[in-house]
Amino acid sequence: MSVQPPMLQDADQRDPLLETISLYLHIPFCHAKCHYCDFNSYAGMLGLREQYVAALAEEIALAGRRARDEQTRPRRCRTIFFGGGTPSLLTAEQVALLLDTAREAFAVDADAEITLEANPGALEHERLDAVRATGVNRLSMGAQSFDPALLRWMGRIHTPDEIETAFLAARSAGFTSINLDLIFALPGQTQRIWETTLERALALEPDHLSLYNLIVEEGTPLFSWVERGAVREVDEDSAADMYEYAQRRLGGAGYEQYEISNWARPGHTCQHNLTYWRNQSWIGLGAGGSSFYAGRRFTNARPIRDYIARVRASVRASEPQSELASLPAGAVVIDEAISRDLEMAETAMLGLRLAEGISLTAFSARYDAGFWPTFAERLDDIRALDLLEEVDGWLRLTARGRMVGNEVFARLLPSGDR
Ligand code: SF4
Repeated sequence: MSVQPPMLQDADQRDPLLETISLYLHIPFCHAKCHYCDFNSYAGMLGLREQYVAALAEEIALAGRRARDEQTRPRRCRTIFFGGGTPSLLTAEQVALLLDTAREAFAVDADAEITLEANPGALEHERLDAVRATGVNRLSMGAQSFDPALLRWMGRIHTPDEIETAFLAARSAGFTSINLDLIFALPGQTQRIWETTLERALALEPDHLSLYNLIVEEGTPLFSWVERGAVREVDEDSAADMYEYAQRRLGGAGYEQYEISNWARPGHTCQHNLTYWRNQSWIGLGAGGSSFYAGRRFTNARPIRDYIARVRASVRASEPQSELASLPAGAVVIDEAISRDLEMAETAMLGLRLAEGISLTAFSARYDAGFWPTFAERLDDIRALDLLEEVDGWLRLTARGRMVGNEVFARLLPSGDR
């Protein structure tokens, strides 16, 4: 694989943030596998944690060398996100090692947003001070529900009370930006149960809330329960009622909905996830990590042992240090070029997930092509349906459009990618 830095032609025309990156570090360990989960995460493999962290540190250093800017300076990094899996299974020393390595490999902003995902059932409260001292300044807690029966049904390893205790411990440790993840449209979840969950979440005064509609993913225990009729999915109308209730309740409580699934108090939007929605560059490292960088998408090997072996081999192959263009692939197993047409469609689709929508001026400057000349034909059959609105040079979904966002997104893709 040869990774070239993005070109800086017409730099004054381009969004300067396009030349920066966000860094995602995947921690694939979990105490138990939740019944609905299809993430690249593994229970019972914590014994590999030391080796894994060492490999991840090596991969960060390799990626930092590959991603140097055109003057071979470390590339600017604005956000770091420890996702999983369960990153709260790392020790504070391991978090510190990974962050120190990232700071050496990249030019990490002094005020970078650094998020760590935490499972309330796998978070040692007495270690939170030490985690905060590493520079982690945002916690994202997988609460999912405050209903004890639903938590058990999902295979979660914590109770509602443990969510509250973990949250308060994180506040005491000085975390001033905390997200709670919640899931709605769970089988057996009534509107009333959902409302109670929202109230218990709001009582904690989180800075950010992510609300996800349950998706039945193939290969999960939940999928087979649904397949054989043991579990019935929540119907679309009930799911929409839960979502619309949440929109009203969170809006009334002072949270701004800035993305289809995300709400924040002022000043607490997730900068890392905004990188994805604005289709800017990110480098995703660790088992199964994927990157969007210099017009390409790279995906790492998913199994933990395979990942570790590939990084080790890659490090051996890179000694003595190679030239930029011939540096090894780390643990990359898929390397795809993203055509300009597909990238434009993805930028439009992701941007329309945001309440602000997409800036038509920024879009034209980025691609040297206007939005409407590119997409008018593809959107022709829905233009009269009042799904999109243009306000002061920004294009966004209308309230009606948000209900059928996938219909709009599908039309934006080039015909071969639909
Ligand atoms: S804790 Fe998160 S990553 Fe781990 S199994 Fe559950 S949902 Fe998946």
